[in-house]
Amino acid sequence: MAMTLQNKDADGDRFRLPHRQDLAPKKGAKSLNVGIIGAGIAGLTAAIAMSQSGHDVEIFERSEFKSEIGAAISCPPNSFRILQFYGIDVASARGGEYKSAVYYDSKEPETKDYLEFSGYRSRYKAPWAFFHRVDLHNELRRLAVQPPDGDRKPAKLRLSSSVKDVQLDGTIVFQDGRTIKKDLVIAADGIRSAFLSQVVGHDVYPEHYMSMIRFLIPSDEFLNLPEARCHFERGMTSLNIVKGGDKSIVFYPCREGTLLNVGVLTPPEVCKSADGDDLPLTQDLIDNATKDFHSVYNGLYRLKDTFGQWKLFRRAPLSTLAKGKIVLIGDAAHPMPPLRAQGAAAAIEDAAALGVLFSDLESANEVPGRLEAFNKLRVRRVGGTQVLSSLHEWDPLKLPQEHTKYFDGKVPYTHQEIDDWFYDYNLITKALEVLQECQTSKEPN
Ligand SMILES: Cc1cc2nc3c(=O)[nH]c(=O)nc-3n(C[C@H](O)[C@H](O)[C@H](O)COP(=O)(O)OP(=O)(O)OC[C@H]3O[C@@H](n4cnc5c(N)ncnc54)[C@H](O)[C@@H]3O)c2cc1C
Repeated sequence: MAMTLQNKDADGDRFRLPHRQDLAPKKGAKSLNVGIIGAGIAGLTAAIAMSQSGHDVEIFERSEFKSEIGAAISCPPNSFRILQFYGIDVASARGGEYKSAVYYDSKEPETKDYLEFSGYRSRYKAPWAFFHRVDLHNELRRLAVQPPDGDRKPAKLRLSSSVKDVQLDGTIVFQDGRTIKKDLVIAADGIRSAFLSQVVGHDVYPEHYMSMIRFLIPSDEFLNLPEARCHFERGMTSLNIVKGGDKSIVFYPCREGTLLNVGVLTPPEVCKSADGDDLPLTQDLIDNATKDFHSVYNGLYRLKDTFGQWKLFRRAPLSTLAKGKIVLIGDAAHPMPPLRAQGAAAAIEDAAALGVLFSDLESANEVPGRLEAFNKLRVRRVGGTQVLSSLHEWDPLKLPQEHTKYFDGKVPYTHQEIDDWFYDYNLITKALEVLQECQTSKEPN
């Protein structure tokens, strides 16, 4: 029976959501056995969302989660709203909130431009939050495997479980030869997804678009530098961007402002030899990447002795995200450079889309129809997100014609139009609408 939309009040408040318990299964509803490959942000959020809708979830993660992953991550309003819906505890994840983006001159540490974010709460009913990745990951893991009492079934997390193959009938084959069959397999295995070609029918290769040298430093150490005092004058709540030709240094706080995440963005050639081979991350390479910046910025890395180097990829959007009983989400489905901080945000949207679209299920025979609904909801949206995130200098006039199809009407151009395109989007509401259409079309006339 079609679920009634409860998310719009009389005034049409587009951000009003049902309570997440409204997605809990009704009496006699069908519980699927769901296998999730990968326990990154996509896999863990999908586990939370699918458990909330009453399914039995098992997550297979090849690593043992012994080492820390990455540095900081920011959650723009479109993804924060979803995390809040599923009950994230921002305090225990030690999250903070951006109030502004500040642009600095690469030669002189003085403000060039200032973009106010504090209006996001009233405009989009959600802040732009930031976290240490490890804290966010731990919180998602807690919500997935130890949900608050009575909230939903806990998902089972199987570490050191490397998946070798997945078949369209839902069979998962592990490296050690074991197999298991699921009603639905969610492939959340990241940018090097081994299961992508199974869904799209051919190999798809990402393009190395930019590189990033990244590290964390204690905020105090930076603020103690005399020339650094002009930064964070309004508190540890800004995203700071220093542009220097084809390179930029981006730094922002995390873990309640105690740490600074610093990223040096460069064209890929900076991190390659003349023969095109990847260069190891040495002092020379860092000097070369930062030499055109004022000493307060290129000196940031002197406050640190270990660094990470990331390749940032872009890839053409896919025309389908699901086949048989397999669905791709997160970076497996849509890798993109972090130019608009939307990679994990889109993964969180995917996860919630699955949670809503697989709620209120009467039989496993409905899986193909619900996956079709997922494609309908997500293919264009993630295509647009990838396109908007894949150009360092955004100019819609340079957009290839085939990419305009991801946008209804005018392609967003100004800051405001782009913000609205990303943050006005209320995934849970949209998914409920698509679910309702899907259920109505199934009902006998
Ligand atoms: C420098 C940088 C900065 C970024 N900043 C932001 C930001 O501010 N905001 C934002 O929204 N996004 C940001 N992103 C993007 C974001 O980090 C990614 O989009 C997101 O983490 C992808 O999550 P995922 O779960 O899809 O993939 P992953 O995090 O890659 O997780 C995949 C998981 O699958 C496991 N796995 C892989 N293969 C197998 C297998 N065969 N069997 C079992 N397990 C397997 C892996 O071990 C891993 O745990 C940034 C990315 C980079 C590189």
